[in-house]
Amino acid sequence: MLDPGHAGNTYNQSTVIADYYESNMTWTLAAKLKKALEKHGFEVGLTRGTKDEDPELTERGRRARGYDLFLSLHSNASSDPASRSPWLIHFSPDGKTDLDERSEAAARALGPVISQVMGTTAPFYYTKPTDFDRDGNGYVDDEWYGVLFGAKSVGVPGVILEHSFHTNAESTLWLMDEKNLDALAEAEAECLAKLFKTEDEEMTEAEKKAFSELSAKVDKLEKRVTAHHDQIGVKWAYVDENLPDWAAPTVKKLVQSGIIKGNGKNSFELSYLLMRILVMLDRAKIFD
Ligand SMILES: [Zn+2]
Repeated sequence: MLDPGHAGNTYNQSTVIADYYESNMTWTLAAKLKKALEKHGFEVGLTRGTKDEDPELTERGRRARGYDLFLSLHSNASSDPASRSPWLIHFSPDGKTDLDERSEAAARALGPVISQVMGTTAPFYYTKPTDFDRDGNGYVDDEWYGVLFGAKSVGVPGVILEHSFHTNAESTLWLMDEKNLDALAEAEAECLAKLFKTEDEEMTEAEKKAFSELSAKVDKLEKRVTAHHDQIGVKWAYVDENLPDWAAPTVKKLVQSGIIKGNGKNSFELSYLLMRILVMLDRAKIFD
């Protein structure tokens, strides 16, 4: 899902080249990048249907629902006219999901591509988390940037791509040349194709069939594991009334005889499966 940053024809005028407006560049680049990605077999959406449509920032991110990646396209501004480095703003580490890793991987892949094609200084990677529980899920793990917050809320890794600075004359002139934007779009699409391996020719028909069969099996298994997670997961820590009736006598017996000792942290760590095995062994009189 591509988000052409801002809206309209005259948003964020360059301070150094009066004819440049960021909102024009992002709209043009998004169209070119969409086309280039489609050539690589991607399905590509835009967060807005017209140049004037201006969805709210978190809504732009949420429009990525169901997509593999959300990219918000921009050029940056600085009080230092010499600044040229592309900025790649990715998810901050959350220690819970792999969305932050996938966001950073996309940023790290695209960064050198942008700096090389644009001939700028090295890319700069940046993250900005909130210091409060923005979505109220009980964790302080939310993104400060509205577009990234929105994308994360629908489970999609996101990156803001700042294509150098429209406060730098050289970069601004570069971004005003459509041929340059063509090259930039091609290079970014190629990089993403490598990252997502969409190229069909990499797999034979037989391999594709085997892969889709395997994927279906994994999906099925995942569903079963999720459905039975409560039963499979560790639930029983003590001999108490929570222990199922069918397992209680065996567990009590094994605790009393010292066969079950727990993990030293006040828990027996008994899973449903483990208890079934112990009960079967008990019935076979293994412990007598
Ligand atoms: Zn912008």
